[in-house]
Parts: sequence; C-alpha cells; structure tokens
Amino acid sequence: MEKLLQVNNLKKHFHLGHGEVLKAVDGVSFHINKGETFGIVGESGCGKSTAGRTIIGLYDRTEGEVLYNGKNIHSLNSKDRFAFHKQMQMIFQDPYASLNPRSTVSEIISEPMEVHGLYPNKKDRLKRVYQLLEDVGLNKDHANRYPHEFSGGQRQRIGIARALALEPQFIIADEPISALDVSIQAQVVNLLKRLQQEKGLTYLFIAHDLSMVKQFSDRIGVMYLGNLVELTASKELYKNPLHPYTQALLSAIPIPDPDIEDKRERIILTGELPSPINPPSGCVFRTRCSMAMEICATEKPNWQEIDAGHFVSCHLYNNNKTGGHDYSQVAV
Ligand code: SF4
Ligand code: MG
Repeated sequence: MEKLLQVNNLKKHFHLGHGEVLKAVDGVSFHINKGETFGIVGESGCGKSTAGRTIIGLYDRTEGEVLYNGKNIHSLNSKDRFAFHKQMQMIFQDPYASLNPRSTVSEIISEPMEVHGLYPNKKDRLKRVYQLLEDVGLNKDHANRYPHEFSGGQRQRIGIARALALEPQFIIADEPISALDVSIQAQVVNLLKRLQQEKGLTYLFIAHDLSMVKQFSDRIGVMYLGNLVELTASKELYKNPLHPYTQALLSAIPIPDPDIEDKRERIILTGELPSPINPPSGCVFRTRCSMAMEICATEKPNWQEIDAGHFVSCHLYNNNKTGGHDYSQVAV
C-alpha cells in the first residue's frame, strides 16, 4: 500500500501567557495510505481537531513533521504551499457556521476555484458548480439559494461540494456528522463513501464516538489528552482493544441484538478529562485508569507495536502481554 500522509511526532502547543502552555497535540505519529479512511476518535478536548488543523496547515506546528506524498509540507515555500493546498481540503463539523450566510450556494462553491484560478471562464465555472451539486445529491436549482434555506444535512452536502471543488486527493472531515440528526448521519456517511470510491479520495475522519467510525474507517487511532493511545485496523480494535481507555469507550456501546446476552464488564470512566495545560505526569490516562500501577505516575509509556500494525501506549504491555476483550458485537 502506498502512503499518502506520514505524521511524525507532531506537536501543537499554545502559549497562553504567564508561562502556561496548552499541549493540545503532544507528539502523535501515524500514516494514512492512499484511498483509505483513517479515523481519529476521542472525547472533546482531546486534541483531535487541532491535530487535523495542524496537518492541513491551518495551524503552524510546534514540533514534528507532516509528509504528504513524501514532501515535508512545512518546508514548502509559499507558492508550493498554495498549490499543495488544492490537494487537501477540510469538511467542518458545523454546517451552519462554516457557510457564509450572505453568499449563494453557487458563490460558496465557486470561491475556492476563483482563488486558485480553476475554470477562469464564468460559464465553465458555473457548469462545474452544477456538476458538484449533482455529485453531492443536490441539483442546479439549489445554486442561487442561500444557506439558511437548507436543512442541516443539505448544508453539509454544500460544504462537501465546496471541499470537492478543487479536486483534492485528501479530505479531513472533522466530525462531519455530529451536528446532524441521527436519521441524516447515515446519508452523509454514505455520500462520503460513494465519493471516495468515485474519486479515489483519502479521508482522515475525526469523531468523538467509536460507533460513528467503525463502519467507515479502515484503521482507527484513539486519542486522549493530546496523545494517541492506541492505533490498529478497525476490526482488530473492536475484537482486541488493548488500551484501558479504548476498552472503556467500547464497553459503553450497547450490543444491538437483544438475543445476545451482554456479558461484558462495563468499564466506567471516573473523573473528568484533565486539563491539557497541566496534564498528569507519566501516563496521561492514569487519573482515570482502574489498572494504574506505580510506574504509570512516573514514566510515560512507549508507543509500541504489539502485533503487526497494532500500536498501544500502556505499561500493561511492557512484556508484550495482550488483552482478550472481544467487542466485535457492539452497535455501530
Ligand atoms: Fe493505565 Fe498505566 Fe496503562 Fe496508563 S500506562 S493506561 S495508567 S495501566
Ligand atoms: Mg473538535
């Protein structure tokens, strides 16, 4: 498989003044293959959106590197960076806030093309807008309307059409369905899947809930307080979750079939997510972990590959022991 994106020890720290540092992303490493969907899951405030925004260049990084097609995006000159931005687009969580209320749908979708000089002829550009509207399940009659005339699901479709306008290869979808009604969520996910097949897109799909990413992601990374704590193929994550945090997230998802007796032990997460301004020493999860040991307070666990492609950061696996919780029956 060919790698499209390689993220190495990426950090994004915000200096808040008075010497306080918010470590939103504190050293994450992963890669994304061409054509796959890589999911990042974690509670709100874990740094997943900041990671996405830093990868796409909306934020400057504090440390680490992002290689896209083997090129370090932070060392590109401004001209190359501008050209490169065509290939990476973002879909935002809130379809209400991310569309300019004073622009028509046609203007919203045309704007990135104008900025990048794509389809300079107005007629061609309009034709392209109509095509994009069709691609996302809308039509040309929608082109002259304003965002407030649309439902949440339709607005997200407009956001997707805008993201596709520059024919990107890679799309970061930051909780694209969390603000939508449950009945609409599946439609938007199906649209994203269809577009992926038709256009050969690669996705980084950010979500706060594992049930949202299971069907859609080929591999999943679980993030907690600025760190990745586990990463593996989706099926493997449900069958054999290793990190206590992943196990807790999965144990909270109900089994859909009433005939299957739920024998799983519920793992209740106690306490609040600590502040990334003053994260716990050692393992960042230790203040909420029922398995915490002495070493967890003093030493940060290594990011280690336990099985092929299955990474975890937890002292329980220092001798390569594996768990044995099967969550493959849980709801999706
Ligand atoms: Fe829990 Fe320790 Fe593992 Fe952290 S390293 S998840 S505190 S057992
Ligand atoms: Mg977010």
